[in-house]
Amino acid sequence: MRIKFWGTRGTRPTPGRKTLRYGGNTTCVEVRDKENNLIVIDSGSGIAELGNGFSATDPLQAHLLITHTHLDHIQGFPFFLPAFVPGTHLTIVGPAGSAKSLQAAFADQMDPAYFPVRLSHMPAEMEFIERNPGETFEVGGLRITPHLLMHPIPTFGYRIDEGSSRFCFATDNEIAMFANQENGTLKDMANWCRDSDLLVHDAQYSTEEYKTHAGFGHSTYEEALSLAEQAGAKELAFFHHDPVHSDTDIDALIEEALGNHRQSGGGDVHAFPAAEEQELAL
Ligand SMILES: [Zn+2]
Ligand SMILES: [Zn+2]
Repeated sequence: MRIKFWGTRGTRPTPGRKTLRYGGNTTCVEVRDKENNLIVIDSGSGIAELGNGFSATDPLQAHLLITHTHLDHIQGFPFFLPAFVPGTHLTIVGPAGSAKSLQAAFADQMDPAYFPVRLSHMPAEMEFIERNPGETFEVGGLRITPHLLMHPIPTFGYRIDEGSSRFCFATDNEIAMFANQENGTLKDMANWCRDSDLLVHDAQYSTEEYKTHAGFGHSTYEEALSLAEQAGAKELAFFHHDPVHSDTDIDALIEEALGNHRQSGGGDVHAFPAAEEQELAL
């Protein structure tokens, strides 16, 4: 399985000199299986640059796995070049039971008040599928199992297995809220991402910042480290970088969090900040 980050930022796009290393585009991750079948997780602003790498005339077949429909996870879709190519087929998957249907959330951000082209006028064929947590489905050689995360609207983490390789993607997840146990327990989540080769997890806040952001649907670096350790993940990538954090802020916050993790008795976790255009092979 090959993975490439096209957008790692949370909340809003954050261009500029201070975010050159870890990137300013919002969530988008490319995943390929051995046969080169394509999955794209989320269509934040990063999907525009991914799309620009495809032909403007040859149709594309791809699955889009949408974690949830908050704007930072869908806002790039109107700029996804393959959606303007006749013959392109996009299967767009997201959680059932959200604030509005997956298709309506995509269509409404392309309402004429906001955008010149309507979703229904894009030439690509699109199939919208709403799924329930725990329902495993397959795309090429990839087995995908969604898990319900802790966020203000239904939000999926996606576990993607190919052979013995396991990739778990879980952003927009507020670990502290598992104490309320509405969406299952943290133990359930650790079991879902057990023995991941790579766990990508929300780490928007420092512990200090979290104090004024409880209920926003995000986690701290320390919480991500603890979960990775509990789940036995081989590697952890911190994700959904806060827009007010510069690259150097992120470096300092990770250093601090690793210190806190060790001080509280935590073991070694191989952890790094996800960076735009970074490629990984599992
Ligand atoms: Zn988000
Ligand atoms: Zn969100």
